[in-house]
Amino acid sequence: MLSNKLKNITPSYTIGISSKVAQLQEKGISICNLSIGEPDFNVPIKAKDVAIDALNNNKTKYDSVSGVNELKQEIIRKLKDENNANYDLDEIVISSGAKHAITNTLISILNPGDEVLVPKPYWVSYPEMIKLCSGVPVFVDTDRKNNFKITVSDIKKNISSKTKMLFLSNPSNPTGAIYTREELENIVDICIKNNIYILADEIYEKISYEDDFVSIASLSSKAKDITITINGFSKSVAMTGMRVGYSASNKTISRGISTVQGHLVSHPSTISQWCAYGALKYCSNDIDDMVKIYKKKRDLAIDMLSKINYIDYIYPKGAFYMFIDISNLKNKLDYKDSFSVEFCDKLLSNNNVAAVPGIAFGMDDYIRISYACSEENLVNGIKGIEEFVNSLL
Ligand code: PMP
Ligand code: GLU
Repeated sequence: MLSNKLKNITPSYTIGISSKVAQLQEKGISICNLSIGEPDFNVPIKAKDVAIDALNNNKTKYDSVSGVNELKQEIIRKLKDENNANYDLDEIVISSGAKHAITNTLISILNPGDEVLVPKPYWVSYPEMIKLCSGVPVFVDTDRKNNFKITVSDIKKNISSKTKMLFLSNPSNPTGAIYTREELENIVDICIKNNIYILADEIYEKISYEDDFVSIASLSSKAKDITITINGFSKSVAMTGMRVGYSASNKTISRGISTVQGHLVSHPSTISQWCAYGALKYCSNDIDDMVKIYKKKRDLAIDMLSKINYIDYIYPKGAFYMFIDISNLKNKLDYKDSFSVEFCDKLLSNNNVAAVPGIAFGMDDYIRISYACSEENLVNGIKGIEEFVNSLL
């Protein structure tokens, strides 16, 4: 009944686990949800006010396909002031979330069979998005010693005549690692030499704890030309349900993305776009406050996890996740297909804690937790992990 394309597609683990948690909660079971990466904040008031005004002023008609002009101008200002990257109006397309910006890009660029390099561990949706858009994900192994950041030699091992694009999540979901300027320059060099586009997913850019985030498009005009920068408002201003993201890319690619978007959705909700405008224009202090709280929770999570025997983690410099190594417990748990799925299933049923199995990110020896939740939830959730680990010993 369904298309061949869908046969190899797995539903999103992160969204799936969240629905499972909601079902358990409806039954009255209290769950510490450390699974989905969703900020525990409301949309800042000043952003809401702009959205409400837009609604009251009937900014509810069809608008430009590539997005509301005022928001595009504001994004251009942000990219210049904060990321040191200069874009024109026709190089920005606003979409219904970063997911949509990524799929629009893939539809615009990929021909059937084109290969896309996907560093492991990867964000859960990348491979499925690539397959849905007729591409072939090529998984690239990375080194734990380098916090799983991809290097030139990792890339070289996987380049073929069909390689069209490289995906880079920076700061990384799921590890929280952040690339240095030098690492990015080396990656850009090899991509330029081999005509490979870079899809730079910078949605966690604001959530960087050591002020070391560098946007790839800022490195040089050549870097900017081969890069499609993806960003959005779900993480930085807690606007997950408003569904606003955007791409910044060269004029040809932007035109392609606009054409795709024009036929598929026209444009994202105008009210949501005005909310995003309000967030960019008036909410930088709110964002700074949120990041301070994430940092506090990150430090708390590190402190608590460090005290649990048998597990280890990648030190996160950004985003709001911890990628936890559970490989030392492999021989303590019976499992059939996937160790991390069995681990997370048991953690949920025995200790009421939800985490995402590492297999969702291509690495079965890990689980991912999000600390974007409330502090109470985080503390109780990590205590639950500790109790579960101890119960296995
Ligand atoms: N990229 C990454 C790395 C993500 O973690 C997410 C999760 N939200 C997205 C893109 C998609 O975000 P949005 O809600 O804007 O679609
Ligand atoms: N990106 C978040 C996560 O990885 C939200 C879920 C999703 O969009 O898939 O948990």
